[in-house]
Amino acid sequence: MPGLHHALGVTGVVAALALVPLLPLNDFHLQILFTIGVNYLAAAGLNVLVGYAGQKSLGHAGLFAVGAYTAAIANVDWGINPWLSLVLACGFGAVFGLVIAMPSVRVSGPSLAMVTIGFGIVVEKIVTEWTDIFKGQAGLYGISAPSIFGRSFTNLHWVWFVGLLCIVTHLLLRSLLRGRYGRAFLAVQLAEPAAQSVGISVVRAKTLAFVISAVTCALAGAVVAQQNQYFNSDFITFNLSILFLVVVIFGGSGSLYGPLFGAVILTLLDAWLARWPALQHFTYGALLLFSLYLMPNGIAGALANLVKRSRSAQPPALSPERSLLLEQKRDRGTGPLLVVKDLYKAYGGIVPVRNVGFSISAGKVHALIGPNGAGKTTLLNLLSGHVAPNGGSIRFRDQEIAGEPPHRIAALGIARTFQNLKLFGDLSALDNVLLGAHLHVETSFLPSLLGLTASRRAERAARGQALALLTELGLGERAFEQAKSLPYGLQRRLEIARALASRPRLLLLDEPAAGLNPQETHELGEVIQRIQAAGITVLLIEHHMDLVMGISDHVLVLDYGEKIAEGAPDTIRQDPRVIAAYLGAEDETEAQIEVVA
Ligand code: ATP
Repeated sequence: MPGLHHALGVTGVVAALALVPLLPLNDFHLQILFTIGVNYLAAAGLNVLVGYAGQKSLGHAGLFAVGAYTAAIANVDWGINPWLSLVLACGFGAVFGLVIAMPSVRVSGPSLAMVTIGFGIVVEKIVTEWTDIFKGQAGLYGISAPSIFGRSFTNLHWVWFVGLLCIVTHLLLRSLLRGRYGRAFLAVQLAEPAAQSVGISVVRAKTLAFVISAVTCALAGAVVAQQNQYFNSDFITFNLSILFLVVVIFGGSGSLYGPLFGAVILTLLDAWLARWPALQHFTYGALLLFSLYLMPNGIAGALANLVKRSRSAQPPALSPERSLLLEQKRDRGTGPLLVVKDLYKAYGGIVPVRNVGFSISAGKVHALIGPNGAGKTTLLNLLSGHVAPNGGSIRFRDQEIAGEPPHRIAALGIARTFQNLKLFGDLSALDNVLLGAHLHVETSFLPSLLGLTASRRAERAARGQALALLTELGLGERAFEQAKSLPYGLQRRLEIARALASRPRLLLLDEPAAGLNPQETHELGEVIQRIQAAGITVLLIEHHMDLVMGISDHVLVLDYGEKIAEGAPDTIRQDPRVIAAYLGAEDETEAQIEVVA
């Protein structure tokens, strides 16, 4: 049904554009329609950055300037035809998007805001002061507008043209964001370490979002320069950057339709307030506060809530494919899968991992135990790449992985769960598992953007497999529920399902039984045994000794960052050093009871 609604919506917009000549509209009205389109174009890409990838930018007027000046200079100074100038403007926009992404993706919060503000100010200063090229306030004149069959665009043609650009932009972004790439952007926004653990490169995802936002913003600038046939530095102000951001946030960031609502309402408001310029800035500020406090998801979010309340949610029809778990690569009994030597990690004077060495045999369940603060989670973080070691070696399938970034380690076949759950809480259980399968959804950027059949087929297959995996872990019925609304025990299980979807050879589980009741802990033990039966090697950190002793083939004990024992569960149970580590050497009898229990 959403597909039908969308088709009707797009047809409605096309029909409305076709009817424009029949309406009693003057040039002023046509200019407002054109400006709505321009603001939509700028905001649609910015929405990918802000609403999906969770980044903020207060410098997109700079990218608008890149597009406008490229189109202007290419045409006026280099004599390039207007159509090609538009393409060039998008290309330069992409390049500058990359430039601004480089420092931006490495910082967050206030620093990110400062980097983007800095970019906007630098561009504003360059176009104002470097008059030889940009002509400052005097501006560039005589920019040619595109023409068709020798006929120049009238104001009506401009409305149609920008309307067409808006529709194409919407269709492309819709196709991109509803699949693998949209999920990856959201994952980066919702839980970066978890996104990395399923093989998503956070830097690459944020950079891509910057580039997409830069291209649509540059396109918006280029069409303004061409329609105006004149462009000067007065267009590029900090207020323009704020306007784009307010269009996104007030309209509803993270919704495909938010930028449309924002562009329509704010452009109309802007036109109405034009006679009281002092009120304009006040209004932007007030709207931003209003939307942040009362409608955190903007107009689109508020409307979506209304529609949800009036309709009972119908999960989309989807049939499970063959089980992924049973298709895992089998590693049973083929020697050591992972070999760790002299691994060392220090935080100042604290050394949570001190020259630790061990190996993990393929197809076995290994447990990592030790008292609180022994360094277990740090060791797991070193294996998954979430923490870089100060020294030592980690060889996984004969390949050195120490210090590699987590997304690359995930791609090699190491998946993990987290001690404090890191689910993508706002997404459905199914989307969480689909994100787990991110590296295995067989589509790339262009086919996803263009919505090619192969890309849609890959998405359908991945959804079917994700549902099969959820069903296999007893979550099939809850596939379309938001992850954060599931009971705690199921959330823990969902995190395991997400890790399994990445088709790992080695699964790292960090206290998977934490917070589970005895029945849930027992079921977890069965799940881990099924995972082992499928040929997946498991390394498990756990404090529940009955679970550890019941399912592990091999136990490794850490204390104060050092390995103090390893061996079969029965041997470890009796080991005096382990008993001493758990309750202190004074009362070994009591400690033995604790370890055995
Ligand atoms: P628990 O069973 O309580 O989860 P653990 O065995 O997993 O404990 P770690 O979380 O690895 O232990 O912590 C080991 C030690 O390293 C602790 O003293 C902890 O405070 C310290 N530590 C861990 N991460 C950091 C960090 N980023 N900066 C400073 N100290 C850290």
